[in-house]
Amino acid sequence: MKHELPKLPYGFADLEPYIDARTMEIHYTKHHQTYTDKFNAALDIHPELYEKSVEELLTHLDAVPQDIRTAVRNHGGGYYNHSLFWQYMSPHPSAEPGNDLHTALTHDFGSFDAFKDAFYKTATNHFGSGWAWLVMSLDKKLSIIETQNQDNPISQEQKPLLGIDIWEHAYYLKYQQKRADYIDAWWHTIDWNHVTENYHRAETH
Ligand code: MN
Repeated sequence: MKHELPKLPYGFADLEPYIDARTMEIHYTKHHQTYTDKFNAALDIHPELYEKSVEELLTHLDAVPQDIRTAVRNHGGGYYNHSLFWQYMSPHPSAEPGNDLHTALTHDFGSFDAFKDAFYKTATNHFGSGWAWLVMSLDKKLSIIETQNQDNPISQEQKPLLGIDIWEHAYYLKYQQKRADYIDAWWHTIDWNHVTENYHRAETH
């Protein structure tokens, strides 16, 4: 079965003023749709791979036939990253991580503020198109990593808990070159309830 564009969990204007409606609409209906279509187009060449989940494909990119490996990495990655990204944000976000996650962030970064500073720094300084992530390693340690283009942390044995899209298409209409202003604004949309659920799921698997 072909992969479908997942339903957006809110309206285009619902993250205003942080994320403007026009950016949201283009990002979802054009960019995410295009990743979805091109991901499917690659899998059409090896339709037996429709039986595998996108997570499975991205976790074991080496097992993907070489003629579509780059397409799966880029477009499958774009499909998956954006599917996660919409869920990290909410019009009615829970503003604080749950107790367990707060404790883990404090343990691994020194304090919640130190985590926030490190996340900002990575997202702000990332060169070119990509993503900044809060991830959990196989030994359950939390860290911040950046990925290029549409790479997802699961291809590097890291589980993504939270991530920000720092491609210019995610912010240029409203913020132009001021990526730091976009990151500041985006921070207000993070649904910490959801991130805490991701943490619990990652921790128990
Ligand atoms: Mn994007």
